[in-house]
Amino acid sequence: MSQQWETVIGLEIHAQLATKSKIFSAASTAYGAEPNTQACAVDLGLPGVLPVLNKEAVRMAVIFGMAIEAHIAPYSVFARKNYFYPDLPKGYQISQMELPIVGVGHLEIEVDGIAKRIGITRAHLEEDAGKSLHEDFHGLTGIDLNRAGTPLLEIVSEPDMRSAKEAVAYMRKLHELVRYLGICDGNMQEGSFRCDANVSVRPKGQKEFGTRAEIKNINSFKFIEKAINYEIERQIDLIESGGTVVQETRLYDSVKDETRSMRSKEEANDYRYFPDPDLLPVFIDDAFKAQIKAELPELPDAKKQRFKDQYALDEESTTVLTSSRQLADYFEAVVKESACEAKICANWVTGDLSAALNKSGLEITGSPVNHQRLAGLLVRIADNTISGKIAKQVFEEMWQGTATADEIIEAKGLKQITDTGAIEAIIDKIIADNQDQVEQYRSGKDKVFGFFVGQVMKEMQGKANPGEVNKMLKDKLK
Ligand code: ADP
Ligand code: MG
Repeated sequence: MSQQWETVIGLEIHAQLATKSKIFSAASTAYGAEPNTQACAVDLGLPGVLPVLNKEAVRMAVIFGMAIEAHIAPYSVFARKNYFYPDLPKGYQISQMELPIVGVGHLEIEVDGIAKRIGITRAHLEEDAGKSLHEDFHGLTGIDLNRAGTPLLEIVSEPDMRSAKEAVAYMRKLHELVRYLGICDGNMQEGSFRCDANVSVRPKGQKEFGTRAEIKNINSFKFIEKAINYEIERQIDLIESGGTVVQETRLYDSVKDETRSMRSKEEANDYRYFPDPDLLPVFIDDAFKAQIKAELPELPDAKKQRFKDQYALDEESTTVLTSSRQLADYFEAVVKESACEAKICANWVTGDLSAALNKSGLEITGSPVNHQRLAGLLVRIADNTISGKIAKQVFEEMWQGTATADEIIEAKGLKQITDTGAIEAIIDKIIADNQDQVEQYRSGKDKVFGFFVGQVMKEMQGKANPGEVNKMLKDKLK
């Protein structure tokens, strides 16, 4: 029998903190500016400058620490990590080494209905480096230092994950959390949330971990899954054919779907960490922590549970509605404003509204139909002014313009006809014109009933109250 293998994964995630200015300078962190227009003397590391810690970055790190129930260090220290690279003009990166701001915490994930707790070893503050642009100049490399000094929170997990699926679940959960907390915009294309994956394998039952490889800088959920699965296969094949895994850094090539060696442990730098003499240690007192605790928003898991309890929603709609704080807020605002049944509001938000947003590539915050207007539409379905079918038509119109549901219903004459006299006249006419079908129905072909409903609705341009039509047709066809 062939050997059974177990995978071990630990992730290091870099979340760019959503501060307006950099971690040690007043330069802007806005994405997409002209190269080298947002790097000041501090970011460039010119002689004689002094870094000043951005309090907002500290606040965000503490918010995160509280959300993962971690120990918040009362005393943490910035250190210099020394290495040379063209996009790092200072010759060192300011990071935290021995005394990080956030200590041991945890995050719950769920894979195939099974919950699991993943340990978080630490989270520390550091500055980002600039960017090397290899594509823009033929035979040359450009350097853009706009990103230099952007605050990062590096979140290091315990080696607790056992499959690529668990790693993706963890990464998604963390991604959702930092966005909920408002500390990171989570934009993966722009590099605001990126991941290094440490992967090793060991024979099932073995206690010691195998030697790990670290796959650097993956910025999509799809690629992290592929890269890890490739790496697991590679390591197993290597060991089974008599080789040994070496500790090294690898890069994932998404075009070839493979990982390649970048540098081995022997070639790794000795960073000569030491406390940064230009920066004071960070002291965090109880008052600061208490203030942050009081401002902590409802967290995703708690919100999910509350939505299930309070609104009696199923797992699927709850998951969609709580996927972002903004979508959840929108939904709750619609429920409140319309006073309609929560399930109907949920169906509209996760259904027609989400579909329209998707189609236009918009987030809920950019929705052309705000919560008041959607609530206005739902009220008119609830009070039978329009049918659910007409409502879809009204919603389309609302999406295109700025009119309210009432204005559209009025202007287009979409009010549902509940006047039984008018419906009756049409039913009589249709029965008279379709004697064959009447015969069929009366001889037991129940299916023909649908034909009559269709004809009446068509004649009344969908505006008849469907309940009323059904009732009257049944009577008349008896
Ligand atoms: P380094 O100091 O080289 O960055 P760390 O001990 O800080 O190493 O670990 C970095 C990451 O690697 C952590 O997320 C940790 O959980 C993970 N890790 C450590 N050992 C292993 C292993 N044998 N297999 C998989 N992941 C591991
Ligand atoms: Mg590390």
